[in-house]
Amino acid sequence: MKAEKKRSILLIYTGGTIGMKQDPDTLALVPFNFNQIEQEVPELKKFGYRIDFHSFDPLIDSSNVTPELWVELVRLIKKNYDSYDGFVILHGTDTMSYSASALSFMLENLEKPVVFTGSQLPIGMLRTDGKENLISSIEIAAAVDGKGRAVVPEVCIYFENKLYRGNRTTKYNAENFSAFHSANYPVLADVGIHIKFNTQNILYPEVWGRELEIHTELDMNVAILKLFPGITAEVVRSVLDIEGLRAVILETFGSGNAPTGRWLTDTLKKGVERGLIIMNVTQCQAGSVDMDTYETGIALKRTGVVGGYDITTEAALAKLFFLMGQYSDIKDVKEQLVKNLRGEITGW
Ligand code: ASP
Repeated sequence: MKAEKKRSILLIYTGGTIGMKQDPDTLALVPFNFNQIEQEVPELKKFGYRIDFHSFDPLIDSSNVTPELWVELVRLIKKNYDSYDGFVILHGTDTMSYSASALSFMLENLEKPVVFTGSQLPIGMLRTDGKENLISSIEIAAAVDGKGRAVVPEVCIYFENKLYRGNRTTKYNAENFSAFHSANYPVLADVGIHIKFNTQNILYPEVWGRELEIHTELDMNVAILKLFPGITAEVVRSVLDIEGLRAVILETFGSGNAPTGRWLTDTLKKGVERGLIIMNVTQCQAGSVDMDTYETGIALKRTGVVGGYDITTEAALAKLFFLMGQYSDIKDVKEQLVKNLRGEITGW
């Protein structure tokens, strides 16, 4: 009888709280040597999987993440794609949703799990949430169906008993172990005694067997402008006039509404006429932009602003970086922007 092949996982450590422990002398949190991970988490040996490690150097707090790290990550995944069944990325929680969103666009034809995880308490602390997050992430990244295909061939975030589609998440809690939510899309798996995969929510390739394509060209000429009562024309103009800017994410009220004053609509219209992409994303955590219901939304639509539907700001930013890196013509970017490319928007 042919022996079953050992499952294999590449565990990538970029930095963040999960890989820290308390220095006994200073009590400060310092990153531990990743080669000692099995010492910190002896449970890893019980898997019976081949788990290889790759540690970034230097390790970074995720507040220091830049698109260069995303490029490094997708290149690393591409290089190792055929050698592993899945990838687990340990990453700081602060910008994890941005990184997961970015990788979802940069990895095309993905057929293997890429699971981001981290923790609120370092893995070297007694009450850590890091161990469970790490162990379940590995199990999820290794899960296959009866045909030997990945159960979750997506870029996801696993945190505190839930598996989310990465580009649907936001870090919403700086204190609780349950730090992420995905307000506009149901979870991909619930983890209790069993790991319950909600396969109806998981994106599967239309055709299996395509080669993984990576996209490393990103254009970061994007600004985020959050509306607030009392915002002035100067504030809006100073953002829209940034040299070289190609796109603005306009964080609007409720279902995509903004003040109707001419000072705003005229400024936005001029920006659009000049070739700026202005994308309407709601400040609300849940729900969708709808520029057809209220006068305040209709006025925005007339200026040529593009509706972001139910996308998160994190995913909108990543999608713009990615699309602007792919297309030089603004018409192409706008055309793709309203399409559902990686499950980041619902139904349109
Ligand atoms: N500041 C840390 C980071 O994002 C927090 C964490 O890991 O949870 O890298």
